[in-house]
Order: sequence, then structure tokens, then C-alpha cells
Amino acid sequence: MPAPYEIFVLVKQVPDQGSKAGLNPDGTIDRARAKRMLNPFDRYALQAALNVKKTYGGRVTAISMGPPPAVEVLLETLEHGVDRGVLLSDKRLAASDTLATAYALYKTIIWAGHYDVIFCGLQTTDGDTAQVGPQLAERLGLPQITYCQDFRIAADQVYADRIIEGGYQKIISQMPLLITVANSYHRLEYKSFHGSWKVQQLLRNTEEQNKYIQSVDLDVIGADEQRCGLKGSPTIVAATEKVGEIGGNCSMHEGHSAEELVGEVVQSTNLQEFLAI
Ligand SMILES: Cc1cc2nc3c(=O)[nH]c(=O)nc-3n(C[C@H](O)[C@H](O)[C@H](O)COP(=O)(O)OP(=O)(O)OC[C@H]3O[C@@H](n4cnc5c(N)ncnc54)[C@H](O)[C@@H]3O)c2cc1C
Repeated sequence: MPAPYEIFVLVKQVPDQGSKAGLNPDGTIDRARAKRMLNPFDRYALQAALNVKKTYGGRVTAISMGPPPAVEVLLETLEHGVDRGVLLSDKRLAASDTLATAYALYKTIIWAGHYDVIFCGLQTTDGDTAQVGPQLAERLGLPQITYCQDFRIAADQVYADRIIEGGYQKIISQMPLLITVANSYHRLEYKSFHGSWKVQQLLRNTEEQNKYIQSVDLDVIGADEQRCGLKGSPTIVAATEKVGEIGGNCSMHEGHSAEELVGEVVQSTNLQEFLAI
């Protein structure tokens, strides 16, 4: 499969943690009240996908599963240079656990067509399981590189550095494959002017938007609804407990040298109080 490549990237819309949306009485996240954002970990996966396109040529498809407002994250990816978005949205997906989510995304990927490489974020900031990428690779029968810090492609093989405790593994894999991208990978670059302009046009014209973002439901992708949503989710969240705010007071110090910095910290610290700790 020589370049140009078909590159897929999975992106999830998550509650903005800054918006302090809180929990429903049953312990689930109150998503309706929360401000929404692109999962921060998916920003690295998106940059990896765009880098493959920039370096080797190809087309990037962003895929998301979520309620209709999740189209916002797909539009955001278009601003960064993604070529096509696919949104899987269906009420029958409500209360999906990771097994059901991975099944539904797997069916969406098959529906979306040929791919050479699939990028996922490492984890999400709401579900936080880091299970979806590996489950997808299993279902698709693909080799997977998780915790990928960096990679290059040569002769249709991927050469990757995978983070392990205390160092890296050097991994070589055939394509197609699935990669979960670590948050030590390159930061997401700024949106392009052209991308932002294009999205502004799409926001004014639904027909035009539909050319770039395909909305699908379980029937379109041929998914078995018994394996989706609550019916397809063997995991039960028995309870969720709030443990309160973590952290304490913190002050920032600046200085041009180590001496200056230490001097500043000593001056601003109540040494008596400090030594009493
Ligand atoms: C019993 C139960 C009920 C739940 N009910 C709901 C519910 O009603 N509504 C709800 O929104 N969540 C619900 N969840 C959470 C939901 O299961 C997870 O958010 C979802 O399975 C993804 O897992 P994760 O967030 O841990 O993803 P991770 O495995 O941490 O994500 C890894 C990567 O996979 C990709 N990915 C993950 N999810 C998606 C997605 N949806 N679209 C595109 N890419 C994705 C991203 O690239 C992401 O970085 C429920 C969970 C449980 C256990």
C-alpha cells in the first residue's frame, strides 16, 4: 500500500473539565449542562494523522461517535486540515460501555472504507479507560502500537518509539495498523486560515457541510443494535464518589538564574511555617 495513505483518526467530544458540570443523581456525568470540547488526548492523534498527510501524502478522515453536538469536534478537525468527517449518532447508543463503543466504532470504520493507518488518543478525560483503541485493533485484526511517542514510515512499514517504564521500545509494524498516540507526541499545530474559512462557509450551508461530514446511524453502518447501548454493555457503574478537590495553594516564581529563583522563594516563604511542617 504505497503512499498516498488513507488515514483515519478517532476523536471524541468530552465535557470541558473547566466548566464544572457535575454529576447526575445516579453518578453519571451531567453532559447536557457541561461545556463541550475535543478530548485533549485526541489533539495528539490528530496531529499524528496530519503529519502523515503532510509528509507522505494522503487523506485524513476523522470519526466520532456521540450525540449530534459532536459534529463540533469534527468541524474543528476540518479547521486543522482534515478532509472528511464521519459522525455516528444514534439514540440506541446511549449508555454504551467500552465494549459497545468499540463495536459501534468498528462498524463505522468498516463502513468508512479503506484505511492504511488509524490513530486514536491514548485515553479520554471523561471515560478514561484507554480501552477503545486496543479493542478496535482486536476487532479489526490489526497490529497495534500503544503509547506511541513518535514514528516514521518507510517502505510502508511503521518505525515507532513506544513508551515503557524507564525508556522506549523500538517497534516495527506492517501497515495497516492502529496507533494510540501518547501526549508527549508533537502538540497540535494552529488551525489554518484556509481551514477556518472553509468551516465558516460550511456553518452557513448545511448542504455543503454534508459533503464534508457524513452523519450515520446504526442502520446505515449495519450494526446489530443488541450489541450497542445499554443492551450491549455488560459493565455496570455501581456508584460514583466525589473525592473533592485535589491540590493546595501554589505560587509561581520567576528568575533568570538558580540563585535568583532560590532567593525569591526564600524571601516569599515563611521559613518558620515551612520548618514546622
Ligand atoms: C456502564 C457505562 C455506561 C456509560 N454510559 C455512557 C453514556 O450514556 N454516554 C456516554 O457518552 N458515555 C457513557 N459511558 C462512557 C463510555 O463508555 C466511554 O466514554 C466510551 O466507551 C469510551 O471509553 P473511554 O472514554 O474510556 O475512551 P478511551 O478508551 O479512554 O479512549 C481512547 C481513544 O479512543 C477514541 N474514542 C473513544 N471514544 C470515542 C468516541 N465516542 N468517538 C470517537 N473516538 C473515541 C479516542 O481516540 C480516544 O482518545 C458509559 C460507560 C459505562 C461503563
